[in-house]
Amino acid sequence: MCGLIMGLFKPQPGPGFRGKFFGGVKAPRRISFFLWTAARGKILTCDNLMKRGHVLAAWCCMCKKGWETVDHLLIHCEVAAALWGFIFQRFGIQWVLPAKVIDLLFGWFNGLGKHSSDIWNLIPHCLMWSLWDERNSRIFEENEQSLLHLQESFVG
Ligand SMILES: [Zn+2]
Repeated sequence: MCGLIMGLFKPQPGPGFRGKFFGGVKAPRRISFFLWTAARGKILTCDNLMKRGHVLAAWCCMCKKGWETVDHLLIHCEVAAALWGFIFQRFGIQWVLPAKVIDLLFGWFNGLGKHSSDIWNLIPHCLMWSLWDERNSRIFEENEQSLLHLQESFVG
């Protein structure tokens, strides 16, 4: 289970690795920072770039249907929703995804805390980082992985 998680989060020597975030989760600093920024709705999705004056097509490159916002990309996009659903299925839980990233993270580490384990606590980091990585890969490298491949990366 969660081969990608283990790959992403395998211990690395040196200072700065153990960034703490929600629930005292230990994750690489860049991923903790990304999640913290996403929770505040500040990652550079199309909507935020446009607020800064950039003019661009704001379609989500994952589903090619929705307007790309932080919450769409990381929760409500059909690709994101499929990945969350896949994880919930693996853990045998049912949970209606909240509207915003900050609420998802709060719920994850509180209401769903009974599932608490090292792997469970790292899933939001891993899943959102994977979505962000895939989104950037599609935009900047024109390299697109299938949903199946993304799912498989969690169970490798
Ligand atoms: Zn989308």
